[in-house]
Amino acid sequence: MQLVIKNLSKTYPNGKQALHNVSLTIGTGMFGLLGQNGAGKSTLMRTIATLQDADSGSIFLEGIDVLKQPQEIRKILGYLPQDFGVYQNVSAEEMLDHIADMKGIGIRSERTSAVADLLKRVNLYDVRKKKLGSYSGGMKQRFGIAQALLGNPKLIIVDEPTAGLDPLERNRFYNLLSEIGENTIVILSTHIVEDVSTLCNDMAIIGNGEVLKAGKPAGIENELRGQLWEKEISKPDLQAYLQRGLQVISNRFHAGRLIITVLSDIAPDETFTPKTPSLEDAYFRLLSHNPLTHKNMPAHV
Ligand code: ADP
Repeated sequence: MQLVIKNLSKTYPNGKQALHNVSLTIGTGMFGLLGQNGAGKSTLMRTIATLQDADSGSIFLEGIDVLKQPQEIRKILGYLPQDFGVYQNVSAEEMLDHIADMKGIGIRSERTSAVADLLKRVNLYDVRKKKLGSYSGGMKQRFGIAQALLGNPKLIIVDEPTAGLDPLERNRFYNLLSEIGENTIVILSTHIVEDVSTLCNDMAIIGNGEVLKAGKPAGIENELRGQLWEKEISKPDLQAYLQRGLQVISNRFHAGRLIITVLSDIAPDETFTPKTPSLEDAYFRLLSHNPLTHKNMPAHV
């Protein structure tokens, strides 16, 4: 099973082009869509989820034309949107039962057992009678994934699911996502590199509405092998390194010390040590190549 996106473009009425000729082929397993805020991730996710139209291009899942047959795709879609609001005064159990009903699980006994299974899976069974309004952020996210998983969807879209979760909740969420069957397409959109490196076997990096890179995380990292050098410096010296013309792709504090990573075919000088590339390096390198995104680079001080 493959989701094939071809030349998808979208410009909002205010003139902002959010997607520009996006083409991606997404197979089963976890696919990470990585990009900064404003890169176009939600626009792409909402378009795949049939919640908004594109101006041009196509999306096909097997024989289904997603843009022209939204009803067909909705039958096999699970979606956890970025701004997932919950009804405050309803319990998780009641709400899931209602959503299951809307998703077409009409037989009451089937619904009850599907809901109970999911509540156990997302570890909310013990609090199933509590009102959703009393849930913590992590519990709400887990409830969100439960509703997305109802009815055994073949395509699951989760938009920025770990933003705002504490490390423990994030870890729980990772575990939950990693248990989703291998025969399902799961698209995870995020601005957090760790989400992708932890979970995804395939990925794309998107910036300014364009696909900057697509492939396997390990392959994308490997492209930088032998080209990265790092050095601990003092903060006031940073400007001097930049003025030397070195391509500093990131500078970050580690245990209170500033470490710069430089892209170069050879060691800039003998004070630099070779660095094994990480996905974060590859991401920062792409952003530093893209002048529009560079100014927002998260690691820059
Ligand atoms: P991301 O999910 O990566 O943060 P979005 O898809 O939400 O990115 O947004 C991409 C760009 O489109 C941003 O510049 C955003 O401000 C703009 N945008 C998003 N939604 C709308 C809208 N409804 N009308 C106008 N501009 C929008």
